[in-house]
Amino acid sequence: MATKRDYYEILGVSKGASEDELKKAYRKMAIKYHPDKNPGDKEAEEKFKEVAEAYDVLSDTDKRARYDRFGHAGVDNMGGGGYAAGGMSMEDIFSRFGDIFGGSGFGGFGGFGGFGTEDTTPRGADMRVNIKLTLKEIAKGTEKKIKVKKMVHCSKCHGEGTTAPDGKSTCSVCHGSGVVTQLMRTPFGQMRSQTTCHNCNGTGSVISKPCDQCHGKGIERGEEVVSFNIPAGVGEGVQLPLRGKGNAAPFGGENGDLYVQFTEVEDPNLIRNGNDLIYNLLIPIKTAIEGGKVEIPTVEGVARVTIEPGTQPGKILRLKDKGLPNVRGFGNGDLLINVNVFIPTNLSKEELDLVSKMSDKTGFIPKEEDRQTIDRKYREMLSR
Ligand SMILES: [Zn+2]
Ligand SMILES: [Zn+2]
Repeated sequence: MATKRDYYEILGVSKGASEDELKKAYRKMAIKYHPDKNPGDKEAEEKFKEVAEAYDVLSDTDKRARYDRFGHAGVDNMGGGGYAAGGMSMEDIFSRFGDIFGGSGFGGFGGFGGFGTEDTTPRGADMRVNIKLTLKEIAKGTEKKIKVKKMVHCSKCHGEGTTAPDGKSTCSVCHGSGVVTQLMRTPFGQMRSQTTCHNCNGTGSVISKPCDQCHGKGIERGEEVVSFNIPAGVGEGVQLPLRGKGNAAPFGGENGDLYVQFTEVEDPNLIRNGNDLIYNLLIPIKTAIEGGKVEIPTVEGVARVTIEPGTQPGKILRLKDKGLPNVRGFGNGDLLINVNVFIPTNLSKEELDLVSKMSDKTGFIPKEEDRQTIDRKYREMLSR
């Protein structure tokens, strides 16, 4: 086995780093190398395990002291199955440190290594997935089915941790209550504090005949197809929380949550602006002068729109309620048509001659009152 790197170096902290600095450093590294962010990347997975191992040791006062004195020899093969045998498993990392990926900061970080006073039964780690939605899907709302890779209940013992009928026995430490009461000496006298029983992780029973597939943890890596409804008009960056659809927890704890985030697929025709949609229309000069009918793509199909004779470039036409629905059900946005007039560029000599002839006619020369009309309309538009 290769020489192991220094734990402080792995986390990028100094030897004197405080608990808080360690937490922050670990969180940063763990997020960076998180398998969800680096799917199939073996190297990232190794890093992810390496930082977890470093944090596991350094965040534990006792282990840290041994490590400081004796180096790796002081902590290898102690507790938890020993790191020398290939480090912590992914299951271990998720079940012990999973909470830090949930976005709730370090709020749920108690219950490990002895810091924090509010120990809780292990809860599965929250997860986040991103899905892409087309404008049509956003306009109508849709049902999605996605396959999520996560920790699931062991298929053999169904999360029980054992398959034997007599595989569990009452915890000898808490006598089945799941909590232990401690008397603490404080300057104000003795105080009673209740914490989750570490022996049974708050379940009240210990597994005497562990399931051979999950080694008693009750969970394994797996996947689940999750389906959910997306409300019409949903905005980018909105998070849809699916309670209990995150990682399963070891030892029968509560499942984590799954947060679904949305990204919009760019539409080739329509631009979203809040609940309004914008379409950039390009018409030939002839249509701008004579007027005509044009077809405008909408989220539902096509709308036929009349262009009035003498339409100036920059005119905005508004199709009421043809935008996206409000996500809370309060009406619809509009579809705004931004009228552009096509000015040709690569014209032939013959075409340029035609333009010259046309431009010499007085009707083609703009007058001050034409400018004023455009100016007034622009001011009206700004004040709306
Ligand atoms: Zn099992
Ligand atoms: Zn117990």
